[in-house]
This record gives sequence, structure tokens and C-alpha cells, in this order.
Amino acid sequence: MIIETHTPQETFDIGKKLGERAIQGEVYCLNGDLGTGKTVLAQGFADGLGIREPVSSPTFTIIQQHDGGRLPLYHFDVYRIGDISEMDEIGYEDCFYGEGVCLVEWPELIAELLPEYAVSIRIEKDMEKGFDYRRILICRPHDSERERKGAV
Ligand code: ADP
Ligand code: MG
Repeated sequence: MIIETHTPQETFDIGKKLGERAIQGEVYCLNGDLGTGKTVLAQGFADGLGIREPVSSPTFTIIQQHDGGRLPLYHFDVYRIGDISEMDEIGYEDCFYGEGVCLVEWPELIAELLPEYAVSIRIEKDMEKGFDYRRILICRPHDSERERKGAV
């Protein structure tokens, strides 16, 4: 699925729809260069889950957990990870295979740890279409958590 947005609010709203539909155990990968809108989409996603506390890039903590919504949200930003073993120290498995739903910014840095059913979201700019234009590609693998759990 490809969606085009022209404002940060539109990207937030895409995230919000995804958050409203998210189910326990899903992992969403947020791909895209710095400043494309991964965190904007994550903020919408949290809003869609009913999380009311502020969501920012958890760059210095690698992971930020947000409770108070329909499901716990584990928001990873692994941009500054030094070594993949840091993920074990963080206890990522309790998040990926836990009670909540995961968002991962810079997933390519921990590719070998991602479950094969992870949903891929890629945000791209296209300067020819304007400074605030974004193309958002959402790819659900065939054997996604949704199908396995019978969700639509
Ligand atoms: P990332 O997490 O990918 O590094 P951020 O979400 O922190 O990026 O920042 C994206 C920036 O791009 C914000 O300043 C936002 O206002 C701006 N922006 C402009 N147009 C859009 C759009 N269509 N969608 C998302 N963000 C946009
Ligand atoms: Mg970010």
C-alpha cells in the first residue's frame, strides 16, 4: 500500500489509523532517512492506541515504553546503538514477544533480530513534489500477526 501525505498532520493521521487497528504482538518497522517523519508517525500511532503522554524520539534511551493506552507501546529508536548485544541488555525480546506492540525506528540496524512477520513502513521524501511531501509505503508480510490471529 502506498499513501502520499503533504503535511505532518496527514502523516500523524496515518499513524493514528495504524495505532487504532494494531494488535498485541505486532512489530512495526519505521524506515526512512533522518527527518522524514518516523517520529511524527509514531506520535500518531500512540494517539491511536489512546496514549496521552508525549512521544518523542527515544534516541538516547533506545527504548521508551508508553502505558495508559489500549496496549503498551514499546517505541525503539536504535539509531545510536553501538552493538547488537545492547538489544539483549535492553530486554528487547520481552517487547517483541510481549503484551504490547512495537515500533522500531532505524530497523535496518537490528535486521537480524526482527521477526519475519514485522510490518514494514517506509517514508520517503521527493523534493520535486515539495518540501512537505512524503510517500509512505506499508508492507505487511503474508504471515503477519494479524492473519495468524484472525484480525482484519
Ligand atoms: P524522523 O523521526 O524520521 O527523523 P521526525 O518525525 O522527527 O523525523 O521529523 C519529521 C519532520 O518533517 C518534522 O519536523 C515534520 O514537521 C516535518 N514534516 C514536513 N512534512 C511532513 C510530512 N508530510 N509528514 C511528516 N513530517 C513532515
Ligand atoms: Mg525519529
